Amino acid sequence: MRIAIIGGGASGLMAGGFLAELHDVVIFDSNEKVGKKIFITGKGRCNVTNNCSREEFLNNVVNGQKFMMSAINGFDCQDAMNFFEGLGLQLKTERGNRVFPASDKSSDVIKALERHAGGCDVRLNEKVLAITKNDAKFAVKTENGMYEFDRVVIATGGKSYPATGSQGDGYKFAKMFGHDVVAPKASLVPIRIKNKFCSALEGLSLKNVELKANINGKAKKLFGEMLFTGDAISGPIALSLSSYIGSAENVELSIDFKPALTQEVLEKRILRDFEDNLNKNVSYIIKGLLPNRLVDIFLSRVEIDGQMKVNSVTAFMRKNIVELLKNFPLEYNGLYPVEAGIITKGGVNLKEVNPKTMESKLVSGLYFVGEVLDVDCLTGGFNLQTAFSTAYACAKYIN
Ligand SMILES: Cc1cc2nc3c(=O)[nH]c(=O)nc-3n(C[C@H](O)[C@H](O)[C@H](O)COP(=O)(O)OP(=O)(O)OC[C@H]3O[C@@H](n4cnc5c(N)ncnc54)[C@H](O)[C@@H]3O)c2cc1C
Repeated sequence: MRIAIIGGGASGLMAGGFLAELHDVVIFDSNEKVGKKIFITGKGRCNVTNNCSREEFLNNVVNGQKFMMSAINGFDCQDAMNFFEGLGLQLKTERGNRVFPASDKSSDVIKALERHAGGCDVRLNEKVLAITKNDAKFAVKTENGMYEFDRVVIATGGKSYPATGSQGDGYKFAKMFGHDVVAPKASLVPIRIKNKFCSALEGLSLKNVELKANINGKAKKLFGEMLFTGDAISGPIALSLSSYIGSAENVELSIDFKPALTQEVLEKRILRDFEDNLNKNVSYIIKGLLPNRLVDIFLSRVEIDGQMKVNSVTAFMRKNIVELLKNFPLEYNGLYPVEAGIITKGGVNLKEVNPKTMESKLVSGLYFVGEVLDVDCLTGGFNLQTAFSTAYACAKYIN
């Protein structure tokens, strides 16, 4: 059989290598080299998968959990690790079970996938423009010509970081075949904040805090590290939170600076601090609780002069301090655009794709793998694993 794979990224190379064992496979990529997005993953180190169970993997799928069950059962995270090690790529597991190449080089992951896909005819600098189907055959029109195939696998990725080649073409092809595409939105993306003080905090990283959100009436809390970036918040917990926000408009945000302490325990601790430092300035106490760059901003929000002596602070003021330490509000100002997202939320409607085989339920012989599907996961190697598992399912069941 002649099979066209549109896209030489994570999912395209993975599917191509397996399919080439039995079939004639052509991989088209618009770029001058394959795996351009893989190159920038994990800050150039490529968090290739997560050393976790199938269940844990599914817990990190934000959209498409049910859809992914069959694919992850067929090719799970341990399979992915064995697969790469089998290709001679040594791996290591870091904090949060994140798996990286031992060399810390994403280029080594690309090289391994290139070895795997060695049996494919890879056509670089060849953008696919349109795909049509007549009877049992597909016609693939590229910048260079027209080709005929028996099967087509769309592995074009999402719409994020378009400079890497994923510019949303897969959605266009899916729509041409009558598929519904859930509107692409940014995910794992910085969250814009309206408050003016944010620019003064640019570069400030907060560890062990809790980012709390009310998203269309639903509460969500994430514990860990976040970063102020000027007009937005980023860092692991902010990026993860963006996955749950999606297109919600009614979003309230706040930071709990002391999540390990209940309000009552924090109140007692502050009372003790105050009693031990009656003749000091209030700012001295706040400096013991928050990073220096936050002190003046915090005091101005709680409307207390930092030079005020601790012995003049009223119980009411003290209560406000505790309240603000536990609930420091941030004004939500939308997410960064889809192009800035680590991944794209939305994509080919999962109801129209067979979760076992990745074949379109509308057009036989047409397959969708990787980020073009309406599946999105948290950070930790789960998005690449999704690309690999869906690619494997497609390769296994294509007929
Ligand atoms: C900055 C960044 C860091 C990331 N880090 C991680 C990480 O550490 N771990 C993780 O799990 N995930 C990470 N991701 C997400 C992960 O890279 C993607 O989910 C994954 O690459 C998706 O694989 P894919 O095969 O679906 O698409 P892609 O890897 O995007 O590949 C799609 C390919 O299709 C080609 N293409 C598109 N349209 C056409 C066309 N019309 N004709 C021909 N070719 C076409 C593109 O050129 C591209 O090569 C990161 C993403 C970004 C942006």
